[in-house]
Order: sequence, then C-alpha cells, then structure tokens
Amino acid sequence: MGPCSLNTWREGLAAGDLSAEFLARACLDRMARHEGTLNALTCRRPDLTLAAARAADARLARGERSPMLGIPVVFKDNLNWRDAPVSNGSRITEGYVAPYDATVVRRLLAAGAVPVAKANMDEFAMGSSGEHSAFGPTRNPWDPARVPGGSSSGSIVAVSAGYAPFALGTDTGGSVRLPGSFCNVTALRPTYGVLSRYGVTAMASSLDQVGPVAGSAEDLAAGFQVMAGPDPLDATSLALPGAERLAGLRPAALKGLRIGLPREYFGPGIDPGVRACLDEALAALAAQGAEGVEVSLPHTPYAIDTYYLISTSEVASNLSRFDGVRYGRRDAAGTLQDMMEATRDAGFGTEAKRRILLGTFCLSKGYYDAFYLKALKARTLITRDFTRAFGHVDVLATPVCPHTAFRLGEKLDDPMAMYLADLFTVTPALAALPALTMPAGFSAGLPVGLQLIGPPLADVRLLEIAHAFQQATRHHLVPPPLES
Ligand code: GLN
Repeated sequence: MGPCSLNTWREGLAAGDLSAEFLARACLDRMARHEGTLNALTCRRPDLTLAAARAADARLARGERSPMLGIPVVFKDNLNWRDAPVSNGSRITEGYVAPYDATVVRRLLAAGAVPVAKANMDEFAMGSSGEHSAFGPTRNPWDPARVPGGSSSGSIVAVSAGYAPFALGTDTGGSVRLPGSFCNVTALRPTYGVLSRYGVTAMASSLDQVGPVAGSAEDLAAGFQVMAGPDPLDATSLALPGAERLAGLRPAALKGLRIGLPREYFGPGIDPGVRACLDEALAALAAQGAEGVEVSLPHTPYAIDTYYLISTSEVASNLSRFDGVRYGRRDAAGTLQDMMEATRDAGFGTEAKRRILLGTFCLSKGYYDAFYLKALKARTLITRDFTRAFGHVDVLATPVCPHTAFRLGEKLDDPMAMYLADLFTVTPALAALPALTMPAGFSAGLPVGLQLIGPPLADVRLLEIAHAFQQATRHHLVPPPLES
C-alpha cells in the first residue's frame, strides 16, 4: 500500500462499505508496523482517535456526507490539537499540552476528519532533512538510509507510507515541498494568508504557512477546501478565490497554458537524473497543449541569503517566548536569569541555537541596516522578478530540489550545504506565492518532484493543473518499497 486514496475511502464510507472506525484502526495498525523503522510520529492518542471515528460513524449513519467526514488525518507537531502534547520537535516544550485547537485543526475536526497522530519534525520547523528533531530523525520510506526531507518530515512520511491519506505540515521556506519531492507525495504551500496560522507555533511569521499534504492533487483539494478562508483570529488571513472549485476538483484544460521555465532554476547544478524526470514531466504537460516559455528571475542568486537573514531574525524574536516561564520545560537554578539560561541551554538543540544566534546578530544595533534591512530590500526585488514573469506566463515550473533524497548524516555537519537544498523553494515563500510539488518520476529509484508556482491566490488553479498532470501520469500512484 502506498499513499491511500482519500477519494476511494470517502466513496467506501458513503456507500457503507467502510466505517471510520475501521479506517482509523487500519491506520493505527499500519503505524505500529512501520514506526520502528520510520520514526515519523511523536504522539498517538488512540483514545481521541477512536472517539472521533465513532462520532464520524454516527454522522455518516445519519446520512451526512462531506469531503473529510471519517477520513484519518495527521498533524505536524507544531499545530495545537486540544489535549495532545505540542512538542515542536523540541525538548523545550516537553510537557506542554494544547489547551485549544489551531483553526486549521478545528475546521478539519468540525468537518469530521479523524485525527490519528502527530508528526515528527525538525525542531521548530528549522531544517531540510528531518534530522533536527529532539526525538530522532525520521527516515525515508523509499530508502530508510536516506532522509525524508524536512521540516515536515513526519507529515510527509505519514502520507507516503500510508499511515493516513491526508496530513498537515507547515511551509516557511519549503518544508512541505522539499520532503514531498523526496517522498513522492503532493504538497501545497498556499498563498500567504489563505490558511490561518492561529494555533501554529510561529517560526518566521512573515513566511509561515500551513501546508496540506496528500497522495494526489484531488485528495489534497478535499482537505484544503474545509480549511481555507478568513479567520478572525489571524489578521493576515484571506479569502481564497475559486474555493468552491475545490469540491470535485476538475483537471485544468492545459491547451494554451503558458508555463514559464526560469533560466536560473535549470542550470548545470541539477543532477542529470532529476533533470531527465523534469524534462519528461514538462513533455507530458506539453502533450496536453501547454507551452513552455523561458523566463528569467534574475535575483535568484540572493534568495538563500535573503531567506536565512529574514527567517533567522524572525526566529530569534519568536523563540524568545520559550523562557521556562510560559511553556513546558523549566530547569530550576538560582536567579530568574539563571533559570532562563539553564532552560534554554538544555531545551534547545544545536540548529535552534545556531539560528537564534544568527538572528540576534542580524537584528542588533549596527548590523540591522547592513543585514536585516538589506534582506528586506532583496525580498522586494525577488518578489518583483515574479511579478514581471507573471506578466508573460500563467504559472512557473521548476525543480523542487537539485537532487534526490540524501543519506542520513550526509549534510548534518555542514549547515550551508543543508541550506542550499532550499534554493528553489524559498523564493515563492519570500514572494508570498502559492507553490506545490507533485511527483514527476524517479531517478535511481528515488522520487523527484516538479514544483509549480502560481501568481498570488492562484492556489486552486495550481491544483487543477496538477490534477490534469496526474490524470495523464502514474508517478503519484507508485508506492514506496515497504512491506505491507
Ligand atoms: N528548510 C528551510 C529552513 O530550514 C525551510 C523550513 C520550513 O519551511 N519550515 O528554514
């Protein structure tokens, strides 16, 4: 079994051939079988899961039908799911239990989705491999010697390994798209604001978005539609135009679609096996009438520096709330200052400390103008590159990553090499654009994703294009080589 099909399960539930409790138990069994290898989860609460499944069955028995009713879902462990711990992949929030539901969680649960687990992640969503979790690395179902990608490692692996047909991650600079590409699933970073951030632990607030993950664009749309839209509890939230098209997603007509291919993203650094998959995927889009157009995004070389300056600055500020007073862990010591120092020293891992230091440095007097302010200006230039490109093309297609999943430990001692894996995913995040990854083939047996980037609020259109691609290809249906 690979990613399970949400739409097939929904039909089974509607016909009475399946029950929500049966599906929830099947998911719990599958987790029990594979967690020893994959380590994708931080918390399972079968009591809450089975109660939700029985409630969904009661609603189904009353004749209620809705896209997520009875469907098992997994939440990244930086989302508040009431009564379950929120670890954030960190020791510093150990013992903290969510007192309320995040808006995205609340909307999914109100629609009848059945929560089956919380997912492992890089500490506070900082990482590209899934190795920076205080609870040990998650492994890739396609090759457990390799990383699944991060930071939403567990949410992606949960879908890839068939733990659940739908999961939520978060994407600040690529955290659902990079692992989605490494593990052969479909994952969307929505336009900034389309999904509420209320109840999501903040990493870098001007970049953070919740990212839905599923086995196909069609399945992803089912969960996305019940969550999207304004939330009075998040002042940056927005209405999603065309949200009604997410129900019963239809494939886009690709004839005449102009697909921009940014020159800077198809340079010599791309692994040849990855390149071959992308060329074939682009040919499949062209076969349906889409037209590839070369475009330029000239400020791309500044993207990594810009992203890491802005995100670490915001991280330094956001993570200051973990002080031993308000959440989770407290390491007792002499004075208040001593207690805070001891708690933060013992509670944060190496990568979190590195970023807090970098961000604090960028924001400090004398460096603010040279680093933070300059990065904000570069962000504007990067955004303008996209605005200009969308004057000529409808969407952009790019690699998600220059290579496939790397080996565990391969980049752990070289933060710069790790950061470079994000080169193609940070740009749409900086420009607040929607972007998704969809399975595009295999290189030496490992999955390769194709990224589609749209203009602001073109989220539904991106999913319709991905759906058209997935009607014509079978990559997304290939399961990882796990024993059943
Ligand atoms: N890999 C990027 C980082 O480490 C993106 C993280 C994310 O999107 N949460 O910052």
